[in-house]
Amino acid sequence: MSTEFQLEATRGAARAGRLITPHGVVETPVFMPVGTLASVKGVAQDLLEELGVQILLSNTYHLYLRPGVETVRRMGGLHGFMAWDRAILTDSGGFQVFSLNELRKVNEEGVTFRSHLDGSSHFFSPESAMAAQIGLGADIVMAFDECTEFPAERERVRASMELTLRWAERSKRYFEEHKGEVPWGAVRSQLSAVSEEARRGGSWAERTCAGDAGETPAAPSGGSADRRARATRPAELALGRTGEAPVPTVDARVPTQAGATQALFGIVQGGMELDLRRESAERTIEIGFPGYAIGGLSVGEPRERTREVVEATVQHLPADKPRYLMGVGTPEEIVEYARMGIDMMDCVLPTRAARHGLLFTSEGKISIKQARYIRDDGPLDPRCGCRVCGRYSRAYLRHLYASNEVLAQVLNTVHNVSFYLDTMRTVRHSIRLGEEIRLLSGVSSQPNP
Ligand SMILES: [Zn+2]
Repeated sequence: MSTEFQLEATRGAARAGRLITPHGVVETPVFMPVGTLASVKGVAQDLLEELGVQILLSNTYHLYLRPGVETVRRMGGLHGFMAWDRAILTDSGGFQVFSLNELRKVNEEGVTFRSHLDGSSHFFSPESAMAAQIGLGADIVMAFDECTEFPAERERVRASMELTLRWAERSKRYFEEHKGEVPWGAVRSQLSAVSEEARRGGSWAERTCAGDAGETPAAPSGGSADRRARATRPAELALGRTGEAPVPTVDARVPTQAGATQALFGIVQGGMELDLRRESAERTIEIGFPGYAIGGLSVGEPRERTREVVEATVQHLPADKPRYLMGVGTPEEIVEYARMGIDMMDCVLPTRAARHGLLFTSEGKISIKQARYIRDDGPLDPRCGCRVCGRYSRAYLRHLYASNEVLAQVLNTVHNVSFYLDTMRTVRHSIRLGEEIRLLSGVSSQPNP
């Protein structure tokens, strides 16, 4: 078993389904929070579980530099290292390496680049990027690609696309030969010990309860009942929480299925040239992957252009395979892309913005540093059911941020991640009910043509 995709409901181009990975079920469309260095900055894993995060993204380039693939591999891969039983996806390192600009050199064989940490020289090829991702042991790994810069001449885009296609073949070949080397065996032995301790009534038993919370959020653990009462949830969101079928989470503490392997996804490139996007999609599908990503977007192009390229590309991807749009977007955008038939998305925006005091709410974006919140005793978002909005006032959050308290980053991130996850829950629920897909603010996205 690697990863299996089950399509369960559609509405127009939008789809709701399940991605069954060796480390749990992921309901789609899904937003994947980014844990660059095997950590969603500021938020502990048990809290991510409580928020209902079913899959995380980690960055190969960063982990390769620090703490190094071999260290992670010896700790049982990312699942063992970061004590995260649920699904993980790693990027190939391609995008990050290409973001280094001055520090990289590309040839047919691969990319030579300099570390942003100490300037040391390194080399990634399709083979070494796959070896790194097998060592890191995420459930879903990505083919090594060249992310074409923007703007770029058509001939340059074509050459880059051809290189990505050759690298996709090399990525797949290496992956097929080495996929048995994923370090989940180490996880299995460690986790068996944990299961044994849990059975004996050890401290891990508590963690089992928290881990099994799945989509059902725990009630706020205290705080003002008054403020909780004010933080009422919109009807469709409340439905989304309770209306979805319970998700059978594969408990990774029970041995991962014997012979389970990672799933390697291909990446469609082709810059902003719609016919090249189509060609890239068709030829990547010919190589054959269990899932397909749309890469090379969010590289500085206007948002309208991104939307156009996604819409033109997604129609050439197979309906029975998961579709992953890399590196997007705002809450409005992720709703829009789900409506177009995208199943998976990731972005640093909710977590990075949170650390800068920018919070997404049903009433729009809030900059919590503003003086207007100094004595605002209302919840951050009266329609959000997260533990932050259920407990703290805007005044307190503003104070924490202004005082540079570590807690500000934690609470802001918890809210923003909650907001994104709730947005996707509502989207999934709408698709299943055949309803119009709405953003949490109540502003509906454009109807399907
Ligand atoms: Zn909230």
